[in-house]
Amino acid sequence: MTKVLVTGGLGYIGSHTVVELSSAGYEVVIADNLSNSKLSVLERISKITNQTYEFYNVDCCDYSSTKEIFEKNKIDSIIHFAGLKSVSESIQKPIDYYSNNIESIITIQRLICEHNISKLIFSSSATVYGELSDPPFTEDSPTGACTNPYGWTKWMIEQMLRDFSNANNDKKVVILRYFNPVGAHDSGLIGEDPNGIPNNLFPYITGVLSGKYEKLTIYGDDYDTIDGTCIRDYIHVCDLAQGHVKALQYMQNSRAGVDVFNLGTGRGTSVKQVVDAFEKSLGHSFNYEIGPRREGDLPVAYANTLKAKEILQFCAKRSIDDMCTSSIKWQTEINEITHD
Ligand code: NAD
Ligand code: UDP
Repeated sequence: MTKVLVTGGLGYIGSHTVVELSSAGYEVVIADNLSNSKLSVLERISKITNQTYEFYNVDCCDYSSTKEIFEKNKIDSIIHFAGLKSVSESIQKPIDYYSNNIESIITIQRLICEHNISKLIFSSSATVYGELSDPPFTEDSPTGACTNPYGWTKWMIEQMLRDFSNANNDKKVVILRYFNPVGAHDSGLIGEDPNGIPNNLFPYITGVLSGKYEKLTIYGDDYDTIDGTCIRDYIHVCDLAQGHVKALQYMQNSRAGVDVFNLGTGRGTSVKQVVDAFEKSLGHSFNYEIGPRREGDLPVAYANTLKAKEILQFCAKRSIDDMCTSSIKWQTEINEITHD
């Protein structure tokens, strides 16, 4: 069976991807330093898939401990999720972000060469598109001009991977640019569980629903959009996870080199439309107010998804209602965990 190393495999997207990989028949080895996840996620993944996993509590920046995974396993491919991901924290602690995100991918590239591994998938972000062109963004839209250190780490790593591929002509690298991953597994057993006060819309709303926060502030309703609020391309995390399986399947027969794909739905949804969808799922309204714009927010961002559709045969299936309903179910589970 093909062994896939999933770094950051206990995190939000990683855990859902482990589930999808397992159901597609891949054998998965997980590495995570638990800096933004909990060991209990491992049990929860096992409960969903009815499988056990080899787990390594390692920091992927640390070459010698990460090397052990490769010495003990015949790894066929790597999906590298491990990284720090908060835009606001990256502005406060840029060096932590550059150091963690860049050193970890350097270690992985070294080990890929030393152990003759040919396939690597890297988690990039739509944030690399910045404001340089108008949406929908295609994979060829200009990148750079990022507004925060987190975005720059993704942009720099993308460049590093192109250099790596130029120097190693047997390697296949897929860069996946995620739009806005939201929602949770249907079982309600895994989902996003951010440390501290969330910056992102979905976890903030579910925090309001659970009574943790008094109300949602919508950052601006005076944009030139359908209802004045910003538009994003929200993609259900299980669809996103499925996109990784499709990418691995594609790499089985693809040529060496770097391929870049957007993973989104291709549909834009406004903040107010998200609020309406939550209210519909709940059957009642919740508390929100309109506040000032948030600095650095793009008015509109959504993907052109044609390339992923044509080459990966990937198409996100779940609706915004599915995203809200699964987030609410997961929030109920978190409340129970917290009250245990
Ligand atoms: P997450 O924080 O939930 O998961 C990342 C996991 O990596 C965590 O479990 C953390 O403990 C682990 N980790 C961090 N640094 C590590 C290191 N040096 N060694 C080992 N483990 C380490 O984040 P996520 O939302 O699942 O995101 C996964 C990846 O996708 C990240 O690279 C992120 O930048 C990228 N991404 C996320 C989003 C999003 O909105 N969630 C959007 C675009 C891209
Ligand atoms: N947003 C909001 N209130 C919040 C958090 C987010 O109005 O408390 C808005 C934000 O301005 C953006 C959208 O929701 O237009 C999505 O924000 P998020 O941070 O989730 O994603 P990103 O802006 O990074 O794409």
